[in-house]
Amino acid sequence: MADLPYRIVIGLEVHVQLLTQTKLFCGCSTRFGQPPNSATCPVCLGLPGALPVMNRRAFDLAVKAALALNCRIASFTKWDRKNYYYPDLPKNYQISQYDLPFSSDGHLDIQTPEGTKRIGIIRAHLEEDAGKLLHEEGGSGKDSLVDLNRTGTPLLEIVSQPELSAPEEAKAYLEELRLLLKALEISDCEMQEGSLRCDANVNIHVPHADGVAATPIVEVKNLNSFRAVERAIKFEANRQYGQFQSDGKKLGDRGVSKATAGWDDVRGVTVVQRRKEEASDYRYFPDPDLVPIEVDSAWIAEVRALLGELPAAQRTRLQSQYALSAYDTEVITRQGRPFVAYFEELARGCGDAAEAKNWLTNEILQTLNDRKSDVRAFPQPADAIAELIREAKATGLNKQRARDVYAHMVSEGGTAKEVIKKLGFTPVTDEGQLRDIVRRAMAANAKAVTDFKNGKVKAADAIKGAVMRETKGMARTEMVQQILLEELQRA
Ligand SMILES: [Zn+2]
Repeated sequence: MADLPYRIVIGLEVHVQLLTQTKLFCGCSTRFGQPPNSATCPVCLGLPGALPVMNRRAFDLAVKAALALNCRIASFTKWDRKNYYYPDLPKNYQISQYDLPFSSDGHLDIQTPEGTKRIGIIRAHLEEDAGKLLHEEGGSGKDSLVDLNRTGTPLLEIVSQPELSAPEEAKAYLEELRLLLKALEISDCEMQEGSLRCDANVNIHVPHADGVAATPIVEVKNLNSFRAVERAIKFEANRQYGQFQSDGKKLGDRGVSKATAGWDDVRGVTVVQRRKEEASDYRYFPDPDLVPIEVDSAWIAEVRALLGELPAAQRTRLQSQYALSAYDTEVITRQGRPFVAYFEELARGCGDAAEAKNWLTNEILQTLNDRKSDVRAFPQPADAIAELIREAKATGLNKQRARDVYAHMVSEGGTAKEVIKKLGFTPVTDEGQLRDIVRRAMAANAKAVTDFKNGKVKAADAIKGAVMRETKGMARTEMVQQILLEELQRA
């Protein structure tokens, strides 16, 4: 970014849906794709007199995420009402956390071309999700439908410090965050299904006569992919530079306030929509229906014990323990913990980490992608593939044959030994047997034999080809060569 005439300042607000069975304050199911408005009850519909009860599992998951993000967990936290009107918000307020979030002051390390960079986390707090408005296609254009299934689903909001200084860093931050939350089974982080949403606060610092000028901050919303995050930040920074050149407006100037913009992915532009609401616009106040939560050290210790090995530590260990490259380690860990466990079992089972890595990142990953499936649903356990790797080595099975055996094992089942036998990939090592095959091939290719005798050395290739076909390539080439020469001289 050194060639830009300004420095970009980015802070990200990420919302992730927690992997709970039920909603944050009622027992309704959070399963994706249910018939509209079927997963609702008086609590999440906001009917008069219905009282919320906090989902303990959601709180535990949130604490787990905050600990993994090195946050401080507050010993006392409470719920607040954020008041606003929107058609997908039946209560006219959202239950969130305002001045006493359950966690704060954490950090996440990301990889940049310059090395590891630590990004501060201001806070992570819990809140409930709103419903969804559906704008019917081909309708009058005036009507919208509302689906309240999502209303009350637990969301964890993670707010970073404005310490990201390039679009690529924003993407790296999101990738690392997703890896962490998926590994800990806190969220499935599917941007397409809305279980991970991201808003980017962007402004730029421009060298100026009186030092450095900061442009007004714009919060860019509606970012539906990591790629969109990168593109939108790049566009918005450049737009702000143009704007600053023309009007010179700076952060802190009278009448300058934070604005909200939407990202139009098709046109590739940000569209500034409105003045951003201030906290005072929402008339926050403590929710009188919910009791505050006191978190003691025993509770934190209980959740901390569930963390296990975090992705960053896992990468370092795999790299040194199995002598893998940083790239291969990244490919393996990105697939999640069950995949890493499969790799380790395979490496142990076949006694060759490099081969295990090759099979896993080529064949097995390809199979999983083709089937759109997870390693947990892979039909062959790690020790079965380890046997294949060992057998291929012991019998001199070439890579193509080994792949054929693999494909058969995956589609039809069976052990490596069984499939090798079934496909006739048993090596032909018996000299007498091979000599018989050579003689038969010579008898069937009488003309080639005559040509060879008349000095056309190349003619022997046709006979050799016939032998290799007959043995399905399972005879050693040098052995075939030698027997064939002997037999041709004798003919
Ligand atoms: Zn409900």
